[in-house]
Amino acid sequence: MARISLKDVRKSYGSTDVIRGVDIEIEDGEFAVFVGPSGCGKSTLLRMVAGLEDITSGTLSIGDRVVNDLPPKDRKVAMVFQSYAIFPHMTVRENVAFGLTIAGASKAEKDAKVAEAARILQMEPLLDRRPSQLSGGQRQRVAIGRAIVRKPEVFLFDEPLSNLDAALRMDMRMEISKLHKQLGTTMIYVTHDQVEAMTLADKIVVLKGGEVQQIGAPMELYHHP
Ligand code: ADP
Ligand code: ADP
Repeated sequence: MARISLKDVRKSYGSTDVIRGVDIEIEDGEFAVFVGPSGCGKSTLLRMVAGLEDITSGTLSIGDRVVNDLPPKDRKVAMVFQSYAIFPHMTVRENVAFGLTIAGASKAEKDAKVAEAARILQMEPLLDRRPSQLSGGQRQRVAIGRAIVRKPEVFLFDEPLSNLDAALRMDMRMEISKLHKQLGTTMIYVTHDQVEAMTLADKIVVLKGGEVQQIGAPMELYHHP
């Protein structure tokens, strides 16, 4: 678990400012959702936390460390990509273990971590299947499993459900919520869907044009007495 802090964080591409000085504090174990229209900077912010995108200025901390210049592999964060990012030629087991394989983990370590992720996500019977033999929801669980085996202090979700149908989206929302309760890990979740934001978030960050428009608990933002 880890606290995340952004202080006056900015991002420019050439002369275009896409993140214009944002301050965001996410507590240890909190589920934060970044919401806002397409192009408002959600994905850029998430990629900055992941270390996939440089920060032009400002301070980004994870835990008690300033991570501005820290490479992604040293940040103890794991990104959950959309389910189509899984490899069709690999089994579920190989897909889930992928990051560990890249990192040079032993077979014993991979087996133990994949078994744990499979238990958490209830997908033990699926480990030897290929993605083509899975439903959309099961594929999404593979993508989450790939993040779980890395034992991150922070999970980052970039619109993970956007290519699923409505019913499945609701199921997966429940699964992700359950996962958060089970692991207690800090999570940041990006979506343009207000319902997803309201049902998942402890804290919602509303972005607009590269700036923070509002921050608060779902009830504070969407309940106007
Ligand atoms: P969101 O995730 O909210 O849809 P993004 O973070 O993807 O928004 O993008 C924010 C803004 O930054 C958009 O206007 C987008 O066009 C711009 N942008 C993103 N990446 C680049 C890039 N590599 N070069 C120039 N502009 C970019
Ligand atoms: P996503 O939001 O899922 O990342 P996008 O289509 O917004 O999908 O972006 C795809 C890729 O293109 C990203 O790597 C992003 O940084 C880059 N990108 C987005 N907008 C621009 C832009 N205006 N100019 C250059 N690259 C961009």
